[in-house]
Amino acid sequence: MERKLTIATCSLAGCFGCHMSLLDIDERLAALAERVAFDRSPLTDVKCISAGVDLGLIEGGVCNEENVETLLEFRRRCRILVAVGACALTGGVPALRNRFSAADCLAEAYGGGATLAAPLLPDDPELPRLLDKVYPIHELVAVDYVLPGCPPPADAFWELLTALLDGREPRLDYPLRRFD
Ligand code: SF4
Repeated sequence: MERKLTIATCSLAGCFGCHMSLLDIDERLAALAERVAFDRSPLTDVKCISAGVDLGLIEGGVCNEENVETLLEFRRRCRILVAVGACALTGGVPALRNRFSAADCLAEAYGGGATLAAPLLPDDPELPRLLDKVYPIHELVAVDYVLPGCPPPADAFWELLTALLDGREPRLDYPLRRFD
């Protein structure tokens, strides 16, 4: 019997739209389930990644210290790491804050104003600290493949997964990576 490909996924500074697009392969999920097994993922609600996972799919850029830890752990534990979507590739929409300092962003959100009667800056040690800016994942770890798009189309996920399962290089032809 064919060994199942193990897959772990996570969302760093992302919106989960890339995960939704993966689910958009629809009825092909049934065929995929015969050949893959999900490890840590919001799709399984498994919180810890196992050692020796075949494929890690990373959605979102890196915006805080917890994101850094998660990304480094995925890189250590996954044989193949994939940057999924514009946020993982470039920082995406969350990186719009890079024009400002983290302190200014916190002051804008929690420093009072229309929604807060008084400033209430988050300082609980349980909360991950914001980084100075939002980073694309390739600035912190080596990446093996990228799936561009916001989100990448479902067929791009299908091509990546079936190619890796069949032992060939994925082919992301133009319709699978255009944005117009
Ligand atoms: Fe969401 Fe788009 Fe970023 Fe994916 S690339 S996490 S869909 S904003």
